[in-house]
Amino acid sequence: MKKELIKTNFFEAVNGEWLDQAVIPGDQPSISAFLELHLGIEKTLMDLTSTWEKDPSNLNDNLKKFIILYQMTKDFDKRNELGTKPFEVILNKINKLTSLKELDQAFVDLTLESIETPFGFAVMQDFMNSNNQVLYFGASNLFLPDTSYYKDEKTKAQMIGLFSQSTKQLLTLFGFSEEESTKLLSDALAFDELLVPVTKSSVEKADYVKMYNPLTKEEVLKLTTNFNLIKHAETLVKQPIDQLIITNLDFINAFDNIINDNNFELIKSWMIISNVFRFSSDLTDEIRVAGGAFRRALSGTKEAQSKEKFAFYQAYNRFSQIVGLYYGENYFGPVAKQDVKTMVFEMIDVYKERITNNTWLNEKTKEKAIKKLSTLTVHVGYPDELPPYYNQFEIKGYEQGSDLIQEKLAVTRILTEYDFNKYNKAPNKNIWGMPASMVNAYYSPTNNQIVFPAAILQRPYYSLDQTPSENYGGIGAVMAHEISHAFDNNGAKFDETGSLNNWWTESDLEAFNQKAKDMITLFDGVETGFGPCNGTLTVSENIADSGGLRCALEASRKGNHHSLDEFFQNWARVWRNKSSLQYSQLLLRVDVHGPSILRANMQLSNLPEFQEFYQVSSEDKMYLPKEKMVSIW
Ligand SMILES: [Zn+2]
Repeated sequence: MKKELIKTNFFEAVNGEWLDQAVIPGDQPSISAFLELHLGIEKTLMDLTSTWEKDPSNLNDNLKKFIILYQMTKDFDKRNELGTKPFEVILNKINKLTSLKELDQAFVDLTLESIETPFGFAVMQDFMNSNNQVLYFGASNLFLPDTSYYKDEKTKAQMIGLFSQSTKQLLTLFGFSEEESTKLLSDALAFDELLVPVTKSSVEKADYVKMYNPLTKEEVLKLTTNFNLIKHAETLVKQPIDQLIITNLDFINAFDNIINDNNFELIKSWMIISNVFRFSSDLTDEIRVAGGAFRRALSGTKEAQSKEKFAFYQAYNRFSQIVGLYYGENYFGPVAKQDVKTMVFEMIDVYKERITNNTWLNEKTKEKAIKKLSTLTVHVGYPDELPPYYNQFEIKGYEQGSDLIQEKLAVTRILTEYDFNKYNKAPNKNIWGMPASMVNAYYSPTNNQIVFPAAILQRPYYSLDQTPSENYGGIGAVMAHEISHAFDNNGAKFDETGSLNNWWTESDLEAFNQKAKDMITLFDGVETGFGPCNGTLTVSENIADSGGLRCALEASRKGNHHSLDEFFQNWARVWRNKSSLQYSQLLLRVDVHGPSILRANMQLSNLPEFQEFYQVSSEDKMYLPKEKMVSIW
């Protein structure tokens, strides 16, 4: 530890040596505690995969399918031999469209195979009634990762230049002539430009309750006279609908102005380019490398993944929950699962106690908050149930005349049909949104549920070899962070059943909103060394970090071997991170999580216990005056 830095930059004091030595892998934009665990698991899973490949006889059916797909993805000789031929089936589907009417007629088929169209449907839980699933409608993403890139002319020109360059290269590899590529690109960019004013920024999307805008069937019919949107919706869900949930009203209000015959050529070119990108990973090695060039440039990643890694992920991503379950059962196991579950419930109990002792909430609101905590469901390690669709997957292999695009279309059809069949039915809350092998955790506001995959339950987050205080500063704070999402600016709007429902008294809600504003102010504009933090974009995560840290600290204090030093150090350790400048700057624009250095430092400055323990005073950079501290949970 660099002790001399404790009061000026705690993040660096703790992580200085690591920062000096850490090397960002060539195929990554950054290295962090998260990513180090990820790389370890990656190695485990890739080794497992090659063992399985040698003798798949003892594997379950779905793992066998994973291996067959893996043998396809890693056979680059075959992929090179097939060239772009497998893509012809997609290109023909788009090229044969000559009018908006024909796109309209083909729309359901394209949707079922997830071929990119400028707008589409998804079935998700109903915010108003989390026990039902309804149909959402929204537009596709822009070519650049956020609307803010389009606002400043210089940045826009530079980014569109990068995008154009890599797209042209990709189109050439797909066999388009110079003239064709130029036209496709200029059309597609013109269409992208039409979407910019009706697309939400990352900051707007972070307030996800605003994505819920129900319109009646009649209202939608009036706004979309150029397209049979409602008819397609009803075909996809196989029943009459009376409403659609619109994720972005600006887009549907402008629908007929954008989606019309005059713009058909632009739409068609946009579809060709979007699908060239979408399927670039399923063809030759040269094409998959070119297909990732823009993303790498955006994030400052030096090189493409090795063929071996890429082939592994291409198969793994399709079977992630299957491989993840194997990982969870064999590398985590039922004993650890029970152990960690106990720890989560301990954190929930501390949270309840903190709510009970809270000084700014009325009793009525406290009761509701405790009810929400009492009904919170917890999943740890690996799921008890997997999505049923894996059993339907069939992987044919090259021997049967298949190729990676045919496989993708077949699997996608199963997935989209599964999704649309969920319409108007209760969700299965036992299905996880992440594989057990993913280094992450989440809170689902519509399920009022937290999920901790096995992968994150390792050092420095959690280890039996670490002291209890270190574990509290690591996984304890992550657990309480996820619990806090039930009470961040988004989660607080949902009740204990996971439905949007105001359970706050008026004055408490006002007080909470004021505290959320204070949290925005605390982080907004704070310099990171690569640009200022956006307080509004990151408010929900900052509230969760702040609540998580306070709750974990209290849990640690209750234990027998409480050490503030160990607790604070491990908190800073889990946020160690070294990123390319481009990646750091990209995240400042699009990531709802604050920059790691602030997650470590600002959250600690905002804690009286930290200031007292290290005797931080007003001359120190880690100092924050008491009146500026924001404590919510
Ligand atoms: Zn979070």
